[in-house]
Amino acid sequence: AYYERIEASDETIGSFLFLNKEDALKQAEHLDALQAEDKMDGALFGIPMGIKDNIVTKDILTTCASRMLEDFNPVYDATVIEKLNNESPVLIGKQNMDEFAMGGSTETSYFKLTRNPWDTDAVPGGSSGGSAAAVAAGFAPFSLGSDTGGSVRQPAAFCGVVGMKPTYGRVSRYGLVAFASSLDQIGPITRNVRDNAKILNVIQGQSDYDSTSMPGIDADFLDGIDKDLTGLKIALPKEYTGEGIDDEVNEAVQNAVKTFESLGATVETVSLPHTKYVVSAYYLIASSEASANLARFDGIRYGHSAKDAESLEDLYKKTRAEGFGDEVKRRIMLGTFVLSAGHYDAYYIRAQKLRSLLESEVKSVLSEYDLIIGPTTTSPAYNIGEKTDDKLKMYKDDILTIPANLTGMPALSIPCGLSSNKRPIGLQILASHFEENKIYNAAYKFE
Ligand code: GLN
Repeated sequence: AYYERIEASDETIGSFLFLNKEDALKQAEHLDALQAEDKMDGALFGIPMGIKDNIVTKDILTTCASRMLEDFNPVYDATVIEKLNNESPVLIGKQNMDEFAMGGSTETSYFKLTRNPWDTDAVPGGSSGGSAAAVAAGFAPFSLGSDTGGSVRQPAAFCGVVGMKPTYGRVSRYGLVAFASSLDQIGPITRNVRDNAKILNVIQGQSDYDSTSMPGIDADFLDGIDKDLTGLKIALPKEYTGEGIDDEVNEAVQNAVKTFESLGATVETVSLPHTKYVVSAYYLIASSEASANLARFDGIRYGHSAKDAESLEDLYKKTRAEGFGDEVKRRIMLGTFVLSAGHYDAYYIRAQKLRSLLESEVKSVLSEYDLIIGPTTTSPAYNIGEKTDDKLKMYKDDILTIPANLTGMPALSIPCGLSSNKRPIGLQILASHFEENKIYNAAYKFE
């Protein structure tokens, strides 16, 4: 049924890069046989799933939407894929994204555009645009995306679905092609809050291959999900509303505030004055880490290798010139510049200082409040091509999602309204480290 839907409409939407149809149908038959023998086993038994194409899947093409990895078949499964497979879902296919997860509209994919199922003139957001569009279009009940500066939450907001960026360390990054290792985190995209909690239940957990994944913190995110919100204390930072945010988005957030109040919570205005620096700090740190992580694509170990090189250095140069798109090159150049001896202190170290300041500022608010809310994005989805010539504007749009990555805190986006041109608006809910339970509880009651 899902493939029928995809075949009918994904030519227009463009959410999948690769369909795993033959294997998926075989596996579905196998699961049917087990079910007939009453041997159903696994929390996701028979449930179709889509996976962003920067999460490695054994013997299944994993391209990062880049020419560099056009023919790359990984030899192992990411930890999250192993964990999912233990619960017997069915992999429908791999999903389109911005090249190497760098972008916010899925327009930097080497292979194709993805369109927003709500309005095909609009971008789906990014970088997990294919994953969010697929869930919104009913091509998969859930997807996994990755979020370095908002790439699960922003496309979830644009496509009217639920997206969670878990606490840094909650989910193993082993097998997620690294963009910025201190910020990257894998997260579920679903149609509702309960499904989201259920998927995080499965993919969470420490792994031996990611030393930043935390042991001993596994939780049941369905536990207490429908608790009463009476007495819950919510903060709304004044920097997240007002100037720079679309009127319709502000209005939707104000309505969300009323909903929370009617559910028994209190909502108070607070201030996070360092918000104005988060975009600069993020783009310095993320690009620095990207420039180091992407050094491995040298034409020898992985993927694309230039054909007519005359020397080793020539091979590196030609391979990288041909294999990477403009946005990836821009980040590598910025990151290399920031990390160079003469500029390191002025940019990289200062950005790290800002990161610490922001974390203590947000922690101090969360010592008095349970949750922080605000819009997920500054506007609803914009038109395809509208911002491609203004990269800086696109970077600035990430101001609301970046804080959760810089601080490592969990944050979820949930639909909270529609604009007058019928494009979804997302509400973001953020909590202290490892307090995803509180977020799911509030989001579930809000939904
Ligand atoms: N839009 C942000 C960027 O381009 C976030 C990307 C992400 O979270 N992967 O860096």
